[in-house]
Amino acid sequence: MLAGRFRMTSSITQATAAPSRVIVVGSGLAGLCASSELVARGVPVYIVERQQKPGGNSIKASSGINGVPTRFQAPGSDTVAEFYADTLKSAGASFRAAKTEARQKLISELTSSSASAIDWLVDEKGIDLSRVAQLGGHSHARTHRGGGATPPGASIVLTLLKLLQASPLVTLQTGTTVTRILKSNNGEVVGVEVSREGKPETIEGPVIFAAGGFAGDSSGLLAQYRPDLEGFPSTNEALPGSQSLLADVGGHLVDMEQVQVHPTGFVDPKEPSKRTKFLAAEVLRGEGGILLRQGKRFINELKIRKEVTDAIMALPPKDLQPTKQWDIQILLDEAAYETAKAHIDFYIWKGLMQKTTISELEHPEMALESMKEYAATVQGKHSDPLGRSSFGHWGLEDPQPESTVYVGTVTPVVHYTMGGAIFSTEAEVLDDSGKPIKGLWAAGEATGGIHGENRLGGSSLLECVVFGRIAGRNAANFLGAKAL
Ligand SMILES: Cc1cc2nc3c(=O)[nH]c(=O)nc-3n(C[C@H](O)[C@H](O)[C@H](O)COP(=O)(O)OP(=O)(O)OC[C@H]3O[C@@H](n4cnc5c(N)ncnc54)[C@H](O)[C@@H]3O)c2cc1C
Repeated sequence: MLAGRFRMTSSITQATAAPSRVIVVGSGLAGLCASSELVARGVPVYIVERQQKPGGNSIKASSGINGVPTRFQAPGSDTVAEFYADTLKSAGASFRAAKTEARQKLISELTSSSASAIDWLVDEKGIDLSRVAQLGGHSHARTHRGGGATPPGASIVLTLLKLLQASPLVTLQTGTTVTRILKSNNGEVVGVEVSREGKPETIEGPVIFAAGGFAGDSSGLLAQYRPDLEGFPSTNEALPGSQSLLADVGGHLVDMEQVQVHPTGFVDPKEPSKRTKFLAAEVLRGEGGILLRQGKRFINELKIRKEVTDAIMALPPKDLQPTKQWDIQILLDEAAYETAKAHIDFYIWKGLMQKTTISELEHPEMALESMKEYAATVQGKHSDPLGRSSFGHWGLEDPQPESTVYVGTVTPVVHYTMGGAIFSTEAEVLDDSGKPIKGLWAAGEATGGIHGENRLGGSSLLECVVFGRIAGRNAANFLGAKAL
């Protein structure tokens, strides 16, 4: 009788009569937030994760999570209306020009729930988010992280995981890939088909889809929607995107061509063509670092990400087939190093940067000439021919061949995908006609519609918390209603 409830199932697991748990696909921040809400309501959760280790790309997040207004911000410094306006502006002209009422409601939900998202993490989960920074595109300091050395993604994800794993209501099944979402004949989502150690299984229950984006899928979804980015390295794990599973059950995908490329991912000299790269933080350029190609500067390093990326991509690439990348050096002097020391020491430890002298660089004469010109610009002897007007803490006044520098090789990397399944403020996955698909919710980078052309830094972790929690609450109510 049960097999009849599934469409096209190749089930080998006999399911029970009524769903007794909610399935969460993905163990990144969105999945963990949804699971936390389910557990808080006494609902059993079955988390399916394809990787051996849980945490997804969320665990790598390095800048923080947005929230407005919070007790950690300067009192009265910021409002939800300003956060909303910044988000709308960042989403771009095409987003604003389109009929976007439903999408603007999503931004409204995201921004107005941001303070309670921070409160929940801090007060209920005990996570330190007491430091606040201002990231690009924001009109105020509103991106929260902790005071310690652990980056925010790791501290949030590891705390939630620990709490969830202590609950008898949680099953975390790693090394298991969801290959299909299953619908009953009446159009309701009733489970998933998974592959574990090459064997198919069926798991029954309503589904929260929190499977992340497709920035690491350079030969799959990226190649399909952005052929110009095919073969690009990424800060994300080099794994296929899973959005097509939603499309297969009627989910409507939007903005799939909107992809955020970061100009500086480190090329590891030990594995130069490796697809997954480590992010070279913006602070390196902000504190005075310069970008060189064959020893020559070519762009104002402080232009927005897209302009720096475009300038690099206009240069000849380095042939490392099938990975498409460039050979750009990021370079700082001693004084800039001192202010970015924590970052650079870590990068040196990882083998991604090295301390050296100008004479040891690959194009020493040209590099020396470029640095002499830059040093003169910093001292106000002339304006920067490339238009840079802020130089962080660069202090080297008279570069010489034996001057110490800190250098690494960088290339543009695909960082975040704005597109995904359109969804409602209740985290319901919507079909082509805008109707919710029963029994299916989504949250996190798997969804589309909020960020338009550009996601603001710190808003991705936020969307995971806000919509992950909503998804968890609604799936719990759905299950409760069925049990009546
Ligand atoms: C280096 C880096 C730094 C970042 N810094 C920040 C920051 O400071 N602030 C910010 O807001 N954002 C940041 N981001 C972006 C942000 O981290 C992500 O967008 C967000 O964490 C995505 O969370 P998620 O839960 O949607 O997906 P993920 O964390 O990627 O989790 C999705 C999980 O689903 C699993 N999965 C996928 N498909 C399947 C399947 N078919 N079956 C089973 N499992 C599946 C994946 O293996 C993965 O574990 C950063 C991203 C990177 C890479």
